[in-house]
Amino acid sequence: MQRHACGFCGWSRPATSATMLDPRCERCGCVLDAVEVAELTPDRGPSLRAPAWALPVLLVLLTTPLVLAAAKVAYARGGTAAGAAAFVIAALAAFVALAPSAQRR
Ligand SMILES: [Zn+2]
Repeated sequence: MQRHACGFCGWSRPATSATMLDPRCERCGCVLDAVEVAELTPDRGPSLRAPAWALPVLLVLLTTPLVLAAAKVAYARGGTAAGAAAFVIAALAAFVALAPSAQRR
């Protein structure tokens, strides 16, 4: 018996074979692994899986410095209006890039 399991968030689904037509995790979007059910038994010691909130928090922590850097560069070259415009544009671009991954959790 096989399962298709996500190594990042722990989500899994039953499967009849290792072949996957849809290899993405329904919860976080990561690539799934085909594993034997015996490998999923909980007697393997402590789990190293990240909690479900880890991915959105990590994405926010990675994009915030980029948004602030864009605003600072634009402010230094064009003043307050350019800095505010660059902040808004960078924040919208980050939201558009990250919104789909935040909805999949
Ligand atoms: Zn997942």
